[in-house]
Amino acid sequence: MTLEQAKKLAESMKKLPDTLATCHPKLTRGQVWCFKCGRSQKVNTAECFRSGWPKCCGETMSIDSPEERGEMILKRFIEEKEKVR
Ligand SMILES: [Zn+2]
Repeated sequence: MTLEQAKKLAESMKKLPDTLATCHPKLTRGQVWCFKCGRSQKVNTAECFRSGWPKCCGETMSIDSPEERGEMILKRFIEEKEKVR
């Protein structure tokens, strides 16, 4: 790797949090949830990628809304059942 390539890589790494923050609708809405107490919080997603996600009740808050979480659990449950068959 040349020095020029390394510089370019470093430059794109700096922009990575912003890129990540805009690559998924769950991230662009900028909201996280705690599943223990149900609290939700507005966040700056790009900032969270840099300095970490907010925590609540001792756990990292999730970018999935409670509805989405429910769907996920249901999906997994169905998949598990299909594996058994
Ligand atoms: Zn909580």
